[in-house]
Amino acid sequence: MNYISTRGAGIGERHTFSDILLGGLAKDGGLYLPGEYPRLSADELARWRALPYADLAFEILRKFSDDIPVEELRELTRRTYTAQVYCNVRDEENAAQITPLKTLGVEDGAPLSLLELSNGPTLAFKDMAMQLLGNLFEYTLAKHGETLNILGATSGDTGSAAEYAMRGKKGIRVFMLSPHKKMSAFQTAQMYSLQDPNIFNIAVEGVFDDCQDIVKAVSNDHAFKAQQKIGTVNSINWARVVAQVVYYFKGYFAATKSNDERVSFTVPSGNFGNVCAGHIARMMGLPVEKLVVATNENDVLDEFFRTGIYRVRKSSETYHTSSPSMDISKASNFERFVFDLLGRDPKRVLQLFRDVEEKGGFDLQASGDFARVREFGFVSGRSGHDDRVETIRDVFHRYDTMIDTHTADGVKVAREHLQAGIPMIVLETAQPIKFGETIREALEREPERPAAFSGLEDLPQRFQVLPNDAQRVKDFVAAHTGA
Ligand SMILES: *Cc1c(COP(=O)(O)O)cnc(C)c1O
Repeated sequence: MNYISTRGAGIGERHTFSDILLGGLAKDGGLYLPGEYPRLSADELARWRALPYADLAFEILRKFSDDIPVEELRELTRRTYTAQVYCNVRDEENAAQITPLKTLGVEDGAPLSLLELSNGPTLAFKDMAMQLLGNLFEYTLAKHGETLNILGATSGDTGSAAEYAMRGKKGIRVFMLSPHKKMSAFQTAQMYSLQDPNIFNIAVEGVFDDCQDIVKAVSNDHAFKAQQKIGTVNSINWARVVAQVVYYFKGYFAATKSNDERVSFTVPSGNFGNVCAGHIARMMGLPVEKLVVATNENDVLDEFFRTGIYRVRKSSETYHTSSPSMDISKASNFERFVFDLLGRDPKRVLQLFRDVEEKGGFDLQASGDFARVREFGFVSGRSGHDDRVETIRDVFHRYDTMIDTHTADGVKVAREHLQAGIPMIVLETAQPIKFGETIREALEREPERPAAFSGLEDLPQRFQVLPNDAQRVKDFVAAHTGA
């Protein structure tokens, strides 16, 4: 399997899965994609139906990472997807399934269900990919005798998923910046209670944007970055995307009895990583009817899928909402889909994403390409705070099921795209305890708390407060890497 950039650099060069694993963007600023998608035979799809999650992950990953010896990959996926790691299930009987499918009911003739992706250590779907990344990074670094210092900024979900995936991993340290005293007590405790010596929580005296600016400033100091072996784990990482392809297959098998059936998925979306994985599953031959992109008030993607106009927002135009993990101004993985939509024409992709940088967006309405969006199964919708509260209430009273704010955006939009006879699977991206304030507003009760999290806020916390100053962060990193 060879990887190419969406902007065309290095055509004719060879990039394996391991080559691109630790990197971010391609050198021309594009994103990596396989030279072509593996296509499944009917026999393969039939055989996969019976596989447990870890072995399904192995079968899918091996198609994209043929430079890793198969037995080592099998061991790695079995170690990653265990019932011990994905233990925060709401129904004990489901622990072995890793991503259980919870049926809600039938609406407008369509079976409606939730695919639980948030039973991992940080109670958000980002664990599904990040846990694999932790093991892949450790494996690859050991093979080459290298080390890596991950630097990131977080306002919640991503940072904690990264820390729980990298804790105790050989050759890896994590330096995670978060805004001092700006996260919820639960999210703060989740991160800061980690005592592993390779995890460094840095509480910056500023807001999230300040943390992000510091990461950018440090990354732009190329000498420092090289000397300190600084890397990132952001959402454009290819391995993260491909790890997410797995649960579309798992969800499909759980919702159907035969491979002649079709299903639709609704995906609460921000950076387009999750639904991009659904697109790839479909390109591999999974029988997907529709991929429904659900956004919150930050509706960059809904606007595109309704009108063909992609218009990124300024950070000052980005709303802070009650589904904060979908608060984005541009969707960093979107370029991968645009590459496929335009028939894999890197010159046009380059031009369009130059237009994004220079003019703030592009318009595909007139070009005829937009009509092809429907051929790829994509539709969309948008949800706001009132919809979210109303949906949490409705699902709780109708189905006795408590859902988080992001999943509520998904259910709200899924209901606008139901088709009789076609199962609709909404991806559950977080557990309600992470966003307790809105649960209390909607239900006038406390969110459910998985047993492993009782007393979390009382645990001792380990973090370093630093001023909003990139140099001080660099000094801290250098002092703890010994380089
Ligand atoms: C990250 C996240 C999303 C958005 O996923 P993308 O891959 O960025 O589209 C949705 N919900 C939750 C809870 C998340 O943490």
